[in-house]
Amino acid sequence: MVHNFNAGPAVLPRPVLERAQAELLDYQGRGMSILEMSHRSKEYEAINASAEARFKALLGLGDDYRVLFMQGGASGQFALVPLNFLPAGATADYIVTGVWGEKAVEEARTVGQAHVAASGASGGFRGVPAPGEIRLSERPAYVHLTSNETIQGVQWPELPELGDAPLVADMSSDIMSRPFDASRFALIYAGAQKNIGPAGVTAVLIRHSLIERGRADIPAVLRYGTFAKNSSLYNTPPVFAVYLLDLCLGWITEQGGLAAMAERNARKAAHVYAAIDRSGGFFRGHAEPAARSQMNVTFRLPDEALERQFVAEAQAAGMVGLAGHRSIGGVRASLYNALPEEACLALAAFMDEFLRKNG
Ligand code: PMP
Repeated sequence: MVHNFNAGPAVLPRPVLERAQAELLDYQGRGMSILEMSHRSKEYEAINASAEARFKALLGLGDDYRVLFMQGGASGQFALVPLNFLPAGATADYIVTGVWGEKAVEEARTVGQAHVAASGASGGFRGVPAPGEIRLSERPAYVHLTSNETIQGVQWPELPELGDAPLVADMSSDIMSRPFDASRFALIYAGAQKNIGPAGVTAVLIRHSLIERGRADIPAVLRYGTFAKNSSLYNTPPVFAVYLLDLCLGWITEQGGLAAMAERNARKAAHVYAAIDRSGGFFRGHAEPAARSQMNVTFRLPDEALERQFVAEAQAAGMVGLAGHRSIGGVRASLYNALPEEACLALAAFMDEFLRKNG
């Protein structure tokens, strides 16, 4: 086995893969796999209901919310959020802390008016804005933020208080990695392929009162209301992806839930940041220390040749997926929920050794 630092699709919990393997050919004695069953079967309906219930239980939420399982990725949500909730004449506010937030604004602008309430672009996306730097518009239709910017490795240490407007968050790369007050959010979306499952399904947590405000004059398949009314079974869902997502949420629950995840994730990230900090400037972290991501640790080496050598030698030593995103280069270690702590210890030791040889 390798230590898998991929940014997404990413490492999955070993017990989840083993269970899926054991159940693959004969799901609950039905003589066929879950892949081959109707999405209207009672078996799949149980999986769908379990995934929604586990999602809400992990976040401590009740009947005010629905969890929807959609397709089109988080990128699809960049479009669906404004399509549903940004009517003509209104403005949506976006707090931009990295490349994904920028993409979300761009999509909103194809639909209506979007106002950038704060942006870290001029500083190279190294931190999150202080409360006084966020300039919300008069009556925003909603306020959107990205809780963890996967490419830059910038994460809100605490999610900000932003007043009364519906709060929308892209939590693709840190959902279920730490406890937070989900009841402050009207809508949270996350591509599953980092912290909670495989590619192919996007989880959307949405407050009932927001669903009701969604536009009714857009195609049914683009309306959150359609998915809510049909419990994500309006059309054929990605059944195997939802099944794996449900198993991943079960695994997180068994581990002790979000508090246990947060404790482990903090320890894991600390191993890698410590190797950066003791390197005397050889490894240079991208994020300001206060906004360092616990999920994606991004750093540079003195030059690109050394970065290539680092990634190649790490790979030879069994540590894969460490090249930075193609848009910014450098090194990125993604440390999602399912990555074992040993992987982070191994990476930190490798970094020390690489510095000793090349520093
Ligand atoms: N938002 C964030 C924070 C992401 O990390 C990603 C994917 N890396 C996306 C959005 C886009 O997700 P998808 O590929 O599922 O559309």
